[in-house]
Amino acid sequence: MTDDNSATSGLSPEDQMILDSIDKWLEREVRPHVRALDHADEYPIKMVEQMKELGLFGATIPVDYGGLGLSATTYAMIIERIAAVWMSLSGVLNSHLIMAACVNRSGTEEQRSRFLPRFATGEIRGGLALTEPDAGTDLQAIRTRAVRDGDDYVINGTKTWITNGIYGSCFALLVKTDPDAEPRHKGMSMFIAEKHEGFRVSRKIEKLGYKGVDSAELIFDNYRISAENLIGGEEGRGMQAALSGLELGRINIAARGCGLASAALMESLKYAQERKTFGKPIAQHQAIQLKLGEMSTRLRAAKLLTYDAARAYDRGERCDMEAGMAKYFASEAAVANSLEAMRIHGGYSYSKEYNVERYFRDAPLMCIGEGTNEIQLMIIAKQMLERYPA
Ligand SMILES: Cc1cc2nc3c(=O)[nH]c(=O)nc-3n(C[C@H](O)[C@H](O)[C@H](O)COP(=O)(O)OP(=O)(O)OC[C@H]3O[C@@H](n4cnc5c(N)ncnc54)[C@H](O)[C@@H]3O)c2cc1C
Repeated sequence: MTDDNSATSGLSPEDQMILDSIDKWLEREVRPHVRALDHADEYPIKMVEQMKELGLFGATIPVDYGGLGLSATTYAMIIERIAAVWMSLSGVLNSHLIMAACVNRSGTEEQRSRFLPRFATGEIRGGLALTEPDAGTDLQAIRTRAVRDGDDYVINGTKTWITNGIYGSCFALLVKTDPDAEPRHKGMSMFIAEKHEGFRVSRKIEKLGYKGVDSAELIFDNYRISAENLIGGEEGRGMQAALSGLELGRINIAARGCGLASAALMESLKYAQERKTFGKPIAQHQAIQLKLGEMSTRLRAAKLLTYDAARAYDRGERCDMEAGMAKYFASEAAVANSLEAMRIHGGYSYSKEYNVERYFRDAPLMCIGEGTNEIQLMIIAKQMLERYPA
């Protein structure tokens, strides 16, 4: 059961067809297997192959480079649907498409032609390698270092929490090319780094939720890479490349939040009409109705903010404030709705035989990834102060 998805009004028939085929795939091939895969923390190999066939690894890659060329709005609708069934699957896709967005927006034409077609088919899959053990929010404090050596660079350092780190083979890798630069971002660069000698996975990170998808620590030990893989062909533009990918990433996290908030609500609506106490369904007790009312309103507001940000992105407008608001609100909505779903399900919420325990484990990640919610609020406040100087 999904909510009414009223945000889809105005879609082209082609986009509607894509959404319909994704709905069918989710119901037939994904939903029946989610609980088992999630509890076993098993990578969904078969589903990833099916996602390749559906063209999802090229969802936002332009048609000229072999992708589906979907708008951020349609992409958000896809992610919302996937996350409502299994949030982890949307992670396999999202970090890959952020890597693609970095190449598409900040790469050279040669890099776009060399990489995007292979990203689009899923032949090469991967993600974004920014975070280090001592630097997450403060990305300019990273220590992974790339030193020029003839036509190559030699890279040393450690990245952590990297989604798709084990099963992926290629990453948009943020490094320092000049550690003494001031301002610090001028000394940062980004490479398209494929796995080969000198690049290894040191460990899989065990997590509370977001099971199935791999999160890993990556080690670069005298990893030699051609200067042709420096995104944009010039040093000092890495932070800009990362930020350009993260705008789409934040809209995606907002869409994932909507998917989780929706799943928590829809299962609560169903359960509340079936479970009886004191001779009537709990949905008829006012205390439960208050929860359902709040959960529904939160979801609707989260969706409106998410699609507002996606449409601004599609119009090519600066939308860091809109994407920040959507990411903040929708992720908090996912946390709040998953907790309320737990309360509505009573003791059964604590059972692994119901989905709500998974929503409760998965939702908090939305408040952390692609920039914590504290940082989103600071971005929003800065924009407001700029727009309305005293
Ligand atoms: C499951 C998972 C998957 C991930 N996938 C990836 C991935 O694929 N690629 C990748 O590069 N990273 C990934 N990350 C890392 C993620 O992006 C970081 O965890 C996140 O950016 C926060 O960084 P941190 O954990 O170092 O926290 P810190 O930066 O140490 O922050 C700790 C706390 O301090 C707050 N804080 C920090 N600075 C400020 C400030 N100036 N003002 C106010 N508050 C502040 C933060 O909001 C937070 O509450 C993933 C993380 C997880 C958990």
